[in-house]
Amino acid sequence: MSTVPEMFASKVFDDKVMRTRLPEKTYNSLRRTIDSGSVLDQALANTIAKAMCDWAVENGATHFTHWFQPLTGITAEKHDSFINTAPDGRVIMELTGKELIKGEPDASSFPSGGLRATFEARGYTAWDPSSYAFIKGKTLCIPTAFCSYGGEALDKKTPLLRSMEALNRQALRILKLFGNTDVRRVTTNVGPEQEYFLVDREMYLKRKDLIYTGRTLFGAKPPKGQELEDHYFGAIKPRVQAYMEELNEELWKLGILAKTEHNEVAPAQHELAPIYATTNVATDHNQLTMEIMKKVARKHGLVCLLHEKPFAGVNGSGKHNNWSISDSEGNNLLNPGATPQDNAQFLVFLAAVLRAVHRHAPALRLGTVGAGNDHRLGANEAPPAILSVYLGDQLAGVLDALVSGGHAADSKSAVMEIGVSTLPPLPVDLSDRNRTSPFAFTGNKFEFRAVGSSQSVAPVNIALNAAVACALDDIATELEASTAAGTPLNTALQKLLPRLFKEHMPVVFNGNGYAASWQDEAARRGLPNDKDTVAALERYSEPAVMDVFLRCNILTEREMLSRQEILLENYAKTLCIEGRVMADMLRASVLPAGREAQRRAADTLLRTREALRGEPAGAEEEYFADLRAHLSALASGASALEAAVASVSATEGGALAKARSARDGILPAMKTCREHADALERMVDDSLWPLPKYAELLWTN
Ligand code: ADP
Ligand code: MG
Repeated sequence: MSTVPEMFASKVFDDKVMRTRLPEKTYNSLRRTIDSGSVLDQALANTIAKAMCDWAVENGATHFTHWFQPLTGITAEKHDSFINTAPDGRVIMELTGKELIKGEPDASSFPSGGLRATFEARGYTAWDPSSYAFIKGKTLCIPTAFCSYGGEALDKKTPLLRSMEALNRQALRILKLFGNTDVRRVTTNVGPEQEYFLVDREMYLKRKDLIYTGRTLFGAKPPKGQELEDHYFGAIKPRVQAYMEELNEELWKLGILAKTEHNEVAPAQHELAPIYATTNVATDHNQLTMEIMKKVARKHGLVCLLHEKPFAGVNGSGKHNNWSISDSEGNNLLNPGATPQDNAQFLVFLAAVLRAVHRHAPALRLGTVGAGNDHRLGANEAPPAILSVYLGDQLAGVLDALVSGGHAADSKSAVMEIGVSTLPPLPVDLSDRNRTSPFAFTGNKFEFRAVGSSQSVAPVNIALNAAVACALDDIATELEASTAAGTPLNTALQKLLPRLFKEHMPVVFNGNGYAASWQDEAARRGLPNDKDTVAALERYSEPAVMDVFLRCNILTEREMLSRQEILLENYAKTLCIEGRVMADMLRASVLPAGREAQRRAADTLLRTREALRGEPAGAEEEYFADLRAHLSALASGASALEAAVASVSATEGGALAKARSARDGILPAMKTCREHADALERMVDDSLWPLPKYAELLWTN
């Protein structure tokens, strides 16, 4: 077997391959496009396509596809083979420059939220050279953006690239003010920590809820849950270990830097973290990682569940989006630095991030919406739906001191003078840092913790980049005006930064985000708390929310409204499916099992009464009555649930009305059904219960 460095990226048309296979001039030009986002010289496309095709065919590929990320949440691909006929009739394998650069998938069934009228149903895909092509199975996958013929974005990559460009533009203005004129480009980086569950495939196949909705819609609390906390970082079991080993290898071959793996808090829950990469690449890699995770699981008799809340009563799964900004000289701009000047620049970027989160929380919240994530956010395990920033006491102390013109709490130094005094050393990546904050500063990066495990990280990073770009724009504009008027930069900063920190301090919260009192405190501070997907999405069309995307040309109004509609539709559809699956399971297996139990209980009761010759049969009477009460409640609950689902389809007034109807009708009906079904599960003979139970699903891998 080959070593990891030999195996690594062996299926990727990466820099190393390009350098050896492309003529020097072509390589240099392509490299410039990748590094600086400049437009590719189209004349080079044929040369690149030929090299890519030859390499792919040598590595076993027969097909190619434009790989893209439509608004459905998964990735899409349509395969074409390389096969073609030469003028002399021979069969050749070929990829033309035109095929590399542009594709026209018959994509009329992808959601467009009304952006594409039927007469212009065909969108097109456009090659994104900044994310390397790779081979999956026998197919060369070419990462692409997906747009309508009018040029409107129908995917997640297009606005993500636009948001990175916007942040680049604004950050460069700040760096220029600090005299950093060598920097050519500023990028954002992301390291997404991915949580997931593994369950046995045989058991999975016995549960329609897992198959159709990705989560259990029923399931009584098992006798043992996560209370002993003996799973977190525990020894990994052999089957899971074998899974992780194969998963790592598959990811490495695709150039994904899979790095850390461990058991998570809940039983059967695990985490995989890669080494961070440029946001665009990290997003593509995370999509690919989720796909490979599911694929590899099958081979080990397992199923990988990426749903945010597969099991009630134990932790759900999230995705921690570690985010930083770096420049083309390799500097992390969120690193506080060692000199007063570095410190000052860091404080500007810090102020921008605080301003971004404070002013644009509803836009950031849009990166976390989804029916699945609603079961986590705000529940007592994941960050609340309120966006606040954790800075740690030390950094918060520095900012307080700056604002009040006083001394940092634990610092003996004189008044903090920007550009002159040095920040006290800040702890990097504290291990005991606050885990309840949705957005935590961890020494040289921010960790956004509210993304759901099944979600793409694109939306949250689009919003984050856009919001920070707007904040940097505000700051740069003010500083440029001051310095143009002759004010030295440090003087301008000493005036601006305390004002900004004061304005945005309400978004800083270092306390316990799970505490009920935080909800009240946040309300007092005026921080929004959009508790569910519908509440968050309703605000998508508010001018203040749209502004952050419009201002930096990241999304147009039409593009935003289409996204709002797609997400609302998706929410309503998800709930309708869950409602139907639950009703079906109730009618087809849970109610029949309950009735059989009731028949047996009646039998036992009659015989007991007979044996007791008229004496009251206390325990048997009680059991029978209880069982019967739950069964009848469940039967009427199932009908109510079906009615709730039907009334969503009947609701008029567009996507928002349907989504509200689903939230307010289906969710409570499902909750009622579940309570009675879970009670029944606890009362019914194991041999009668038709579904694998939580204990079996969670503890038997
Ligand atoms: P945790 O303690 O939260 O589990 P880890 O240290 O294991 O965090 O890693 C968190 C993730 O953060 C990893 O994917 C890592 O690559 C990423 N990361 C580290 N530094 C940066 C950075 N400067 N920018 C973005 N991501 C980063
Ligand atoms: Mg983390």
